[in-house]
Amino acid sequence: MITSTSQGDILIDFDNEEVVGIKLSGGMDSAIVFYMVCKHIQENNLQTAILLMTVDKPGHGSSNSDFAKKVLYWMKQNFPTVKILSHQLDKAPDTAEDWATAPNMDWARREPVDEWIYHQEKQIYETHQHTPFNIYFTGITNNPPEEVYSQFYNSKEELLEGPDDIRSSSHPITIEHPYFLDTDGYWHLGRTNNPEVKQGEMICINLLAHVDKIAVAELYDKFNLRQRLLPNTRSCENDDPVLTNNFTTHCNTECWWCHERHWGLGNQNKY
Ligand SMILES: [Zn+2]
Repeated sequence: MITSTSQGDILIDFDNEEVVGIKLSGGMDSAIVFYMVCKHIQENNLQTAILLMTVDKPGHGSSNSDFAKKVLYWMKQNFPTVKILSHQLDKAPDTAEDWATAPNMDWARREPVDEWIYHQEKQIYETHQHTPFNIYFTGITNNPPEEVYSQFYNSKEELLEGPDDIRSSSHPITIEHPYFLDTDGYWHLGRTNNPEVKQGEMICINLLAHVDKIAVAELYDKFNLRQRLLPNTRSCENDDPVLTNNFTTHCNTECWWCHERHWGLGNQNKY
């Protein structure tokens, strides 16, 4: 399936995969990836099953899994013939002590990566060990242009911090993702010659790596999802439980990700 946007085409071209994975965060990007993968499977009458993986972010309650479940429910209603396997849910460590003792991991140019990233990787590897898949999709987008995010201020007129170069157009859309479990019990990116060790190979497809939120909003409009799928997603990354009604709503003006969402969707959007 090819879908055009003003920033380039989005191509999904698998046809005989038994299972494909999707990292589903509950945000608008991974939700549209999930939608397009379902649409591709349905339109081509594929037998491929989808395996969803979600990790709750420390200090953010169960927001990611709650919104991922809403997105999943919506998708099941709209694609009843698409096979979806049991949703893999996990939670990253909440306490500072847990974070301090977890290892860093070098993954796909993100260096150093933090334990939040590690936990997501761990979930993918452990899921892959019991239900193998050749490819999995993510919904990581490119950042807005600098002249846009340099205007992301909160209500106190402080400039907000975003993901900087973590999300960059220099990241490839397709990345080889081999992994193994080391003798200390930690997962690593890479290959090992030791046949005794748990290991695997897969391909990560960052389907939206070459586009930003403007193009993602175009996808929502193209498929007429702005009033349907979009309200089931949440993009806010604010740590404040009060401003976010305990991580159930957007803070709207106080975090970088809410600004990015507003920018992409246009100011007329009221979630
Ligand atoms: Zn926010």
